[in-house]
Amino acid sequence: MSEHPIYDLFVIGGGINGCGIARDAAGRGYSVALAEMNDFASGTSSGATKLIHGGLRYLEHYEFRLVREALMEREVLWQMAPHVIWPLRFVLPFQKGGIRPAWLIRLGLFLYDHLGGRKLLPATKTLDLRRDVAGRPLKPIFSKAFEYSDGWVDDARMVVLNARDAEIRGARILSRARVTSARREDGHWLITTKSQRNGSVETHRARMLVNAAGPWVDQVLAGAFGRNNVHNVRLVQGSHIVVRKKFSDPRAYFFQNPDNRIIFAIPYEGDFTLIGTTDQDYTGDPKDVRISAQEVDYLCNAASEYFQEPVRSEDIVWSYSGVRPLYDDGASKAQEATRDYVLKVEGQDGEPPLLNVFGGKLTTYRRLAEHAVEKIADAIGEKGKSWTAGSRLPGGDFDATAAASVVVDLIKAYPFIQRHHAERLVRCYGTDAKQILGAAQRIEDLGRYFGGTLYEAEVRWLVEREWAVSAEDVLWRRTKQGLFLTPEEAKGLDIYLRMGAAA
Ligand code: FAD
Repeated sequence: MSEHPIYDLFVIGGGINGCGIARDAAGRGYSVALAEMNDFASGTSSGATKLIHGGLRYLEHYEFRLVREALMEREVLWQMAPHVIWPLRFVLPFQKGGIRPAWLIRLGLFLYDHLGGRKLLPATKTLDLRRDVAGRPLKPIFSKAFEYSDGWVDDARMVVLNARDAEIRGARILSRARVTSARREDGHWLITTKSQRNGSVETHRARMLVNAAGPWVDQVLAGAFGRNNVHNVRLVQGSHIVVRKKFSDPRAYFFQNPDNRIIFAIPYEGDFTLIGTTDQDYTGDPKDVRISAQEVDYLCNAASEYFQEPVRSEDIVWSYSGVRPLYDDGASKAQEATRDYVLKVEGQDGEPPLLNVFGGKLTTYRRLAEHAVEKIADAIGEKGKSWTAGSRLPGGDFDATAAASVVVDLIKAYPFIQRHHAERLVRCYGTDAKQILGAAQRIEDLGRYFGGTLYEAEVRWLVEREWAVSAEDVLWRRTKQGLFLTPEEAKGLDIYLRMGAAA
């Protein structure tokens, strides 16, 4: 058992909210430590639909504050991380006599275009699906659509880039360290972590504690803090399926279902289409969440209402599920529970404070972090001003509209790599791709080949710089190369990592 200095802040949870708060606070000069019990983004933050969006649907629930903040964040985040975030156009087909009249959708999209923050993203327009290529994969009953702008994010990469940046700014980042207890002692928090890799136990002291454990936020309060009867969040499961690509157009589709819900069909990792999501209350441990047969049927049926060629369960190549930790506002239906976040500080005068984070979206994580650090400043004293708007995440130091030229530069510097490999490296690492490829002059210089476009040089970077430990970390979170490797190839990577890749 070892002891460390007293941190200003100790953050529980390495999802987008915990990593975002740690980065913001470290950048303002607070001393920060963060513990993640598993891998970064292994909870909800890799299970999202991956949209940087205002949330058109939330307008129906009058969530104007959230929608406005989220709309404003789209371009702020795109500028901050133009490698892992990019604009996406959405095609919203509509039918006469459908569940929402055209005027209502048009009004929603008008608000969407004008509520704020849109400078580079193009405005909404109307499409004639009999002429536009977007109509080709759809059933001929759909003759009209609206096309509007939102953004796309590689969610798991955005999390790890926040963790890296927090570390670069001085934070201590602990992966696979579970917080097992937290109690107030001698005017500080005394926090115990247990390594999930070797069982070692550490204690840490901090002036303030942040509980950003996402869907585990109540479990942490009950387990680590020993509280009774904690019911702050409502857990809502959402699942996605991935099928071979249903269309070649770069635009995504927004489909309205007869039950008033919506799903998206999104171009995914070049060769695939991502379809989701569902919305149902969940009562188990968030780590056990899996897609159910009913959800598969629901998603296949909903998409098949629109696509000429039906989506069948046998077309599914991968699926994933996540649990939304929604602040429990007592709404009757899962899809009506608020998507906004709530930050609550606890602690009597003189006691070390605890900040609990409830809810939140990937899209609003930077603002959530700013609001959280404002509360931290109120509780333990101000250090620096807000700084993350206009900042860059590691590898994102290029103009938001210039991703294509970063790819061209990379191919010029490394003419032996194929275009789709260069594009993937830029989409994952931005300008850091050059550090990964280093002095390589031939493809063989990248070391062992694992399948897909994955070579040893990249795996070593992920182990040494991004805390990757297992094949799952590499194949399904740091990259999505899991979609391209055969089971034997994935096994080869697993053995390599178990034998100590970076040794
Ligand atoms: P998490 O990512 O779950 O992070 C919490 C972390 O805490 C976990 O990694 C966990 O391992 C760790 N932890 C728990 N207990 C402990 C402990 N005792 N010690 C140490 N660590 C611990 N948002 C959008 O903006 N756009 C979307 O398109 C979108 N789509 C979504 C679709 C679905 C199906 C879902 C489920 C969510 C979606 N969201 C979307 C919302 C977004 O994904 C979440 O709000 C966000 O990821 C929550 O992040 P978090 O950091 O709060 O939680």
